[in-house]
Amino acid sequence: MNKTSFCVANWKMNKDFNESIFYLEKLKKIDLSENKSNIIICPSYLDLHELVKYKEKIKGIDFGAQNVFSEPKGSFTGEISVSMLESIGCKWVILGHSERRVVLGETDLDIAKKMKLVYESKLNPILCIGESLLEKEQKETSVVLKRQINTAFNSIDFKKNKNILIAYEPVWAIGTGVAASVADITNNIKIIKNIINNIDTKDCNIYLLYGGSVDGNNASNIFSINEVDGFLIGTASLSIESFYKIYRQI
Ligand code: PEP
Repeated sequence: MNKTSFCVANWKMNKDFNESIFYLEKLKKIDLSENKSNIIICPSYLDLHELVKYKEKIKGIDFGAQNVFSEPKGSFTGEISVSMLESIGCKWVILGHSERRVVLGETDLDIAKKMKLVYESKLNPILCIGESLLEKEQKETSVVLKRQINTAFNSIDFKKNKNILIAYEPVWAIGTGVAASVADITNNIKIIKNIINNIDTKDCNIYLLYGGSVDGNNASNIFSINEVDGFLIGTASLSIESFYKIYRQI
């Protein structure tokens, strides 16, 4: 592997504290020194504070939150702010995951507000974008990707150097066991590159991930696409064995 790459585990609402520790203890025993890919684990908010300590115990691992609130501070019962995440040593945050867009009603504008706050903080965003099945069938994929990226980037004043991960996650491929084809991913990642190339993102390092039913059988094929810099993994990240199987292929 000679490109900078990322293997992001999105545990969603699946692991409690003990299960999370059990997983990381197992990961700690694996020799990761051969592979230079960056692992980012995104556990529940609750466990982040304790789990970030594993950064000292496992080389090449980092942690991210699965979400953050769109306001910096105030009377927003139950929400978590950017500065709260910064203060516990969290480095990454997933924004705009399709489950938040579809199930929890997040809009492109909500996500844009979060992007701006995150961009101005010490956190780095993992922005999720992707079309639904209906949008794919109606051949609206490129319009959707353009709207999602342009809105998310619109209010950012690109003045500082930042790592930004964009995860192309077709909604119809998430959690279904059916990944997008290599041809579709290649095509849509090119569309995403073109959209980004038309925005003056200055010195930002933008990496493109694919997400949607990545597993040990399709990872190396998808990673062989030049523009794919890694994966955002849901289901297959829940077991250390299946996650590691993917990790070894990048
Ligand atoms: C996801 O939820 O971001 C995801 C990619 O899930 P899965 O790997 O299960 O499709």
